Amino acid sequence: MGLFDRVFRGSAEMYQKAEEELAKVIAELGEDAQMQMPDTAYFLSCIYAYLGKKVTKLSELRDALAEIKGKMTTNYRTTDVFSSGIGTAMAAEVIEATKYARTPTPYEGTVYHGHFSDAEVRELGVPLVTQDIPGFVVVIGPAPSTEEAVNLIKGYQTRGIFVFLIGGVIDQAVEAGLSMGFPVRVVPVGQEIWSVGHIISLVERAAMIFGAVQPGDWEAFNEYSMARIFAFVNAYKPVADIVVACGGGAIAMGFPVITNDTDDMWRVPKSLIIQEDTEDFIETSLEARDIKIKITNIDIPVAFSTAFEGEIIRKADMRVDINGARFDCFEWVRSQEAKDIEDHQIIVDGPDIADIEPGGSMSLGVIVDVAGKNMQPDFEPVFERKFHNFLNCIEGVMHTGQRDMIRIRISNTAFEAGFSIRHIGEVLYAKVKSEYDTVVDKCQVTLVTDKAKLKELRAEANKTYDKRDLRLRAMTDENVEVFYNCILCQSFSPAHVCIVTPERLGLCGAVSWLDAKATNELDPNGPCQVVTKKRVIDERVGAFEDVNEAVQKYSHGALQQVTLYSILEDPMTSCGCFECICGIEPISNGVSIVNREHTGVTPLGMTFSEMASMTGGGVQTPGFMGHGKHFIASKKFLKAEGGVARIVWMPKALKETVRERLNESAKELYGIDDFCDRIADEDSVTDDPEALLAFLTEKEHPVLAMEPLL
Ligand code: SF4
Ligand code: ZN
Repeated sequence: MGLFDRVFRGSAEMYQKAEEELAKVIAELGEDAQMQMPDTAYFLSCIYAYLGKKVTKLSELRDALAEIKGKMTTNYRTTDVFSSGIGTAMAAEVIEATKYARTPTPYEGTVYHGHFSDAEVRELGVPLVTQDIPGFVVVIGPAPSTEEAVNLIKGYQTRGIFVFLIGGVIDQAVEAGLSMGFPVRVVPVGQEIWSVGHIISLVERAAMIFGAVQPGDWEAFNEYSMARIFAFVNAYKPVADIVVACGGGAIAMGFPVITNDTDDMWRVPKSLIIQEDTEDFIETSLEARDIKIKITNIDIPVAFSTAFEGEIIRKADMRVDINGARFDCFEWVRSQEAKDIEDHQIIVDGPDIADIEPGGSMSLGVIVDVAGKNMQPDFEPVFERKFHNFLNCIEGVMHTGQRDMIRIRISNTAFEAGFSIRHIGEVLYAKVKSEYDTVVDKCQVTLVTDKAKLKELRAEANKTYDKRDLRLRAMTDENVEVFYNCILCQSFSPAHVCIVTPERLGLCGAVSWLDAKATNELDPNGPCQVVTKKRVIDERVGAFEDVNEAVQKYSHGALQQVTLYSILEDPMTSCGCFECICGIEPISNGVSIVNREHTGVTPLGMTFSEMASMTGGGVQTPGFMGHGKHFIASKKFLKAEGGVARIVWMPKALKETVRERLNESAKELYGIDDFCDRIADEDSVTDDPEALLAFLTEKEHPVLAMEPLL
């Protein structure tokens, strides 16, 4: 039997299973039963993407399945393999959907992840553009041995590749005690092959969210995933027909399949690759998808990879705790004269981990001295903020906070492997030298753990932080010479451009004006370019001729003009990875803001995902705007519409993050005290606009005296 037959048989099998499961659930719940996947605004995304159909009840699912059947053509042409393959993926989604029709949490209490939320899809935005995640692998099977399974997973993990697992390989990972989950980028999706539907759903949503690909445009989805999602499949033998059929879909989407199964398989260059030596899967796969891994060699006894960024170290696994809330700790970058420091010198001053009792605490002051002709003091905080990412990449180290409010946990396993305080210095040295090589010629790290010396040093560091803050606060959009653009996200959102100003950071929250300036000077041909602001069109909304020319140029003509301070008149576009979304709430004449972490509903009657789906892909959508958390307290926030006084609702946690600065801005702009207390949150109001209005009236919220928005 040939490869074509295997695909057609496999897709027929998937279809039959979908038909059976659907019949069962319809018999149980009735065909009018509502159905939806949790935390998504994109329905059953595979079906929505490829067929343009919004499935919201079981009868519609049945209609969709009939249409899917029509796509599973068997005329022995390559196109039949592709459309049958995509049909197989959609049928897989149908099978999984029947589980979610019964309960929103079918995988509760199991190791399986199942469906991905829109928030998870969006969370991938920034690491993908920065290449922290250079690609995705879907591993299907059990590997020949548990040991080999672990080697494969860890091998991908240390290269930053996001790993999805399906089938017996999950049992092997569990047996080996591997830590898994979305934050560590190893996700056990499901035991059965149809759980692949969840992965395809994630890919299709990325295309809709970041790429503004239109539902129903079959070709455009495949083009998007081929060009922009660096995914591939590893399938261990014996590969069943149904898996081969899924492989046909993967190849149609541009994802090569690497397998050691030779049964009725033939090689297709760049698409179907037979590698009988499974220990070479990683290398063969990366080559097939043209993924180049940037490896920084760091001399430490544990692994170093962005895959460990989300790793959690529990108290029981902790060898030592460095706690800036209780002791004098800090992280501090200082520019120095080249003659005063020695490159790669790492000084540890005081006791090391081995001197502390297991589970105990210690203090740590990190001083990174840098020198270089092009170094500027403005880069110090930019480097310092990256320490969080750098140190989190160490396997067995968990880092939170910055400046003198840091917290670091080091695990027992890392300590037993030989990790010591000096290795923190090795990591910072290696990363600062490699990431900032254009401005840093020499770098020296001092790690002070001697409690007696830290008090004074911390006070000195604090003086520097205060000085920087003063400079930052004094910096306004008016008193700087230039703005910057950022087009990093164009790898997913080809038409999107962020304009970054001192008072408006990039919507991802990761790029402030200083960051953009540093990026520009470190990499003059890179994603951040100078945008002048000499020709003002309208001060009120923040419109400039030079800014418009810049967005025209960098969006390749997709966008003609933007304003910096309005949500209604030519608002800035969004890619998809925004921290918050803000939308007009018409009854109160205000806006509700919701952050990505909040899953509940807002007074607009929509969740974050639903509001977020109103904008994105570099398209202008007046009334909705993606933005960074720190933009909320800015005096330029919605300036054209009257400023922060328009904010009527925010989740409590978000309010706490911005409270101090937002209260300050409201005091300065309108002379009101405790503005945040007048903003409703999920405790006072959920999706009831009338209750919101009552709350605002009771609190004498300033929005009530403002002009109508629309
Ligand atoms: Fe993407 Fe804008 Fe952030 Fe740049 S500033 S990474 S374009 S969201
Ligand atoms: Zn983005």
